[in-house]
Formats: sequence, structure tokens, C-alpha cells
Amino acid sequence: MRLSRYFLPILKETPKEAEIVSHRLMLRAGMIRQEAAGIYAWLPLGLRVLKKIEQIVREEQNRAGAIELLMPTLQLADLWRESGRYDAYGPEMLRILDRHKRELLYGPTNEEMITEIFRGYVKSYKSLPLNLYHIQWKFRDEQRPRFGVMRGREFLMKDGYSFDIDEAAAKRSYNQMFVAYLRTFARMGLKAIPMRAETGPIGGDHSHEFIVLAETGESGVFCDSDVLNLPVPPADIDYNGDLTGIIDQWTSIYAATEDVHDAARFESEVPAERRLNTRGIEVGQIFYFGTKYSDAMKATVAGADGAETAIHGGSYGVGVSRLLGAIIEACHDENGIKWPEEVAPFRAAILNLKQGSADTDAACEALYKELSAKGVDVLYDDTDQRAGGKFATADLIGVPWQILVGPKGLAEGKVELKRRDDGSRENISAAEVVAKLT
Ligand code: ATP
Ligand code: MG
Ligand code: MG
Ligand code: MG
Repeated sequence: MRLSRYFLPILKETPKEAEIVSHRLMLRAGMIRQEAAGIYAWLPLGLRVLKKIEQIVREEQNRAGAIELLMPTLQLADLWRESGRYDAYGPEMLRILDRHKRELLYGPTNEEMITEIFRGYVKSYKSLPLNLYHIQWKFRDEQRPRFGVMRGREFLMKDGYSFDIDEAAAKRSYNQMFVAYLRTFARMGLKAIPMRAETGPIGGDHSHEFIVLAETGESGVFCDSDVLNLPVPPADIDYNGDLTGIIDQWTSIYAATEDVHDAARFESEVPAERRLNTRGIEVGQIFYFGTKYSDAMKATVAGADGAETAIHGGSYGVGVSRLLGAIIEACHDENGIKWPEEVAPFRAAILNLKQGSADTDAACEALYKELSAKGVDVLYDDTDQRAGGKFATADLIGVPWQILVGPKGLAEGKVELKRRDDGSRENISAAEVVAKLT
């Protein structure tokens, strides 16, 4: 992408309405624009990151055996009357009337709809286990939308739903998602800690929230600092094998949200120097809720003995759009964002430090063509901004590798390769840069 032809509306001033750093940086870097309270347009740079995060979530869901579909954003109120949640959900639900005065709602979650789909087709235990997910916009009319995409009203969520014949099988599905979540967040460069959690309006009796520790987080959390050093399962983990060893390893170390915190247990189990009482951002939550929806909505299958049994369900959410905020909270400095490579909007940026000079223009063009041809997502800053402005832009938008091309270096056949991450720099040839990035 040539920056001169791109749409990157960077703000010079720090927007006053933004209270936390991730919100400020997303606005300044031209990633999002607020269209109404808690409702954002995704500008090109923001959309690139959103898509990368979405893709990581998708890959890890698929790896764990979940199957993608896509449900609509609008749902019939009657469907929610079946589960009893139409009235129970309260003012967070956006209720809509169509021209025929039929009551609809903009889905805040999809347990009812997926159960309706399931019961329409699946009749036998032989079709189980089944785990279906989608990545779709949700609407919750939050009392206090704030912190940008962290607490939006419209936001992108991955929500998945498992169907099993009994509790033991459902726990296996739960464990698969537990492991998939560990991998998903680690791939984005995040340490997200699974913590025992309350189940809330989804219902059920077993749940973990995945929490990224951050002072700006809205959840109070308590954990043993040892949990920060546990290894994340590798990509070739066998999801059909026994995962209980991994789950036990993660859940035997104290980690709980304030809602379910047990102070006495915390103090007896965790030595004082390892006790963390801090704040965190909920980036995902998994639930086992048994037959709550299948009983209410009559989602049954014929078991091995022919008898109709209500399926055991679980649901699994990831805050895809919230993750942008969470990652920035964890990865930034005073100059801007430091995207982890896996989610960066561009992997590399070429900074032409003397635009309009034949030598630097030619060198940048050649490098841009070669990197693009080799599949590197590269942004070429070919604008007539001064060098200082180009450095500031590249740092602000957080491109992990910056290639500085100036006349001095070129005279010696060198360009400067800078890592955004730690600021380290090296003078190498353009060919070496290509070799390094491909
Ligand atoms: P919170 O406690 O932050 O209100 P929640 O517990 O109500 O979140 P869930 O129903 O568990 O949310 O939804 C799954 C995931 O969707 C959450 O873990 C979170 O990452 C994300 N999420 C929920 N509400 C919002 C929101 N208003 N804006 C952005 N992401 C959200
Ligand atoms: Mg909520
Ligand atoms: Mg919550
Ligand atoms: Mg939650």
C-alpha cells in the first residue's frame, strides 16, 4: 500500500473524550471513528487489524474442531420468549419493530437461535458432539459505553456453542475451548489468564473468564502470579486426546474474578509475595450450562437406548473488537502502538526519507515491489512529509518493522531496519532486509 494513495486520517491532537490510552491511540491512528455512543466505523487501518484478529480466532476454533456458520444480527422476539430471556434480559437488549409490527431484537448473543437451528436438524446422539460458532456483530445497549471498542454498544464477537449427550462429554467440549482460547490469545501476543467466573445472564454453573491484566481493566481480579508463567499448549495439541492434564495445570493455580473470589482460600493457598490483586480486561468467557436452553426449548436427541434426552450445552465468547483495545493497552509506548507481528495492520513500512530524490525513490520503489511480490504486507510512506513526520506516523500506527531509506545510507548500499518493538536498529543492504522479512 502506498501511503499517498491510502486513507489514513491521523489526528494531530489527542482527542479529549478518550479516557484510556488504547482509545486515544485508536482515534489518533485513524483506526476508528465514533458514529454514535458506542458505535464505530472501522477505518481501513482498524479494519485490517480487526480482520487479522478475527482470522486467528477462526483458525484456532477450526483447529479445535468447531465449525463456522453465520447467523443474522436480527432475531425474533418470540424465539427469546421460548427461553424466558426476552423479559429477563432487560434494557441492554435493543428491541425493534418491523413494518408489520413484528417484534425483533438485535442479538446480544445467540444461545436461542443456535438451539433453534440445532433442534431443527439434529435428532440422534450419533451426530454429537457438535460445536458451531460464528463471528458476528452484536448489540448491547450498555449503560455506559466507554473506552472506545472496549465497551461498545455494537461490537464484534466470536460466539460458539457446543452440544453434547451428557455432562461428561460437555466437559470435554468445554476443555477443548479452554485450550483453544489459551492458544488464541497467546498468538496475539497476549497473556490472557483463565479465571473462575460468575455465569451471569447466560446461566449455568461452570465458567471461566479469560482476563488480560491491565490497570485500566473493568474487572477486579485475584490470582497467584505463578499462573503468568504457565506454558501455552502447542499447535499440534491433540484436541481429541485427554486435555484434563492441561486444564488441571491451569485451574489448580488460584485465579478468580472478584465476583467469585474466596479470600480465605486465596490467603491459605497463595504465599503473600505471589498474591496479585489487580484489574483486568475480559477478552473471552466460556460457560457450561447443562440443559438450561435445551430443556426450555426442547432440544433433544435420541440416545443410544432410544430415549429422548435434552442435550448438554456450553457457550464460548471472544470479544474480537475488544481485543484491539486490550492488545494496545498491553503493547504501546509514549510514541504509539507496538503491534505484535501476528495482528499488525502492516508487517513493514518503507520510509522514504528524501521523497523526490531519484536515488531514494528508486530504491524504495524496488524494495516495495519486491516485498509486495513476496507477500509481505508493506506500507510505503511515499508522502512528502518530512522524515520526522514519517518516523512519528510509523511509530504511532505501530508497524513492527520500519525500513528507513535515506541518501546517506544508500551511498554505502545500506538502509536502516528498525524494530518498533524494542527500537533496535541495524544498517543492512536492501537484499538483507528482504531476506529477513520473507
Ligand atoms: P462485560 O463483563 O465486559 O460486560 P460480558 O461478560 O457481558 O462482558 P459476554 O457475554 O461474556 O460479555 O460476551 C463474550 C465476550 O464479548 C466478552 O468476554 C467480551 O470480551 C466481549 N464483550 C462483551 N460486551 C462487550 C462490549 N460491550 N463491547 C465489546 N466487547 C464486549
Ligand atoms: Mg456485559
Ligand atoms: Mg463479564
Ligand atoms: Mg462475560
